[in-house]
Amino acid sequence: MGRKKKEKIEEKAEKIDLLVKRCPECFVSLPLDAKRCSSCNSRVGRADKHGMAIKPTHWISYIVCILSWTILILYVNWAFLR
Ligand SMILES: [Zn+2]
Repeated sequence: MGRKKKEKIEEKAEKIDLLVKRCPECFVSLPLDAKRCSSCNSRVGRADKHGMAIKPTHWISYIVCILSWTILILYVNWAFLR
C-alpha cells in the first residue's frame, strides 16, 4: 500500500516538471505555453527534452540585417564606381 502512494507522488512530480520550461536568457521557470519570458521579456520557444525553452529564430531581424548590408554594399559600389 505504501509503495503505491510513493509512485503517485513521483508521477505528480514528473507532471509538474513538464509544466514548466526555463528561459534561455535568465533561467526563470515559465509556463509551457509562454511566448515571452515574464522576467527578462525575451521571446521563448517551445521546451526541449531538458525543459529548456528554445530560442525562436528572429527571421525578420535576420532578413533586415542582410538587406541593410546589401544596401550598404550597393551604395558603396555606386558611390565609388560613379
Ligand atoms: Zn528570461
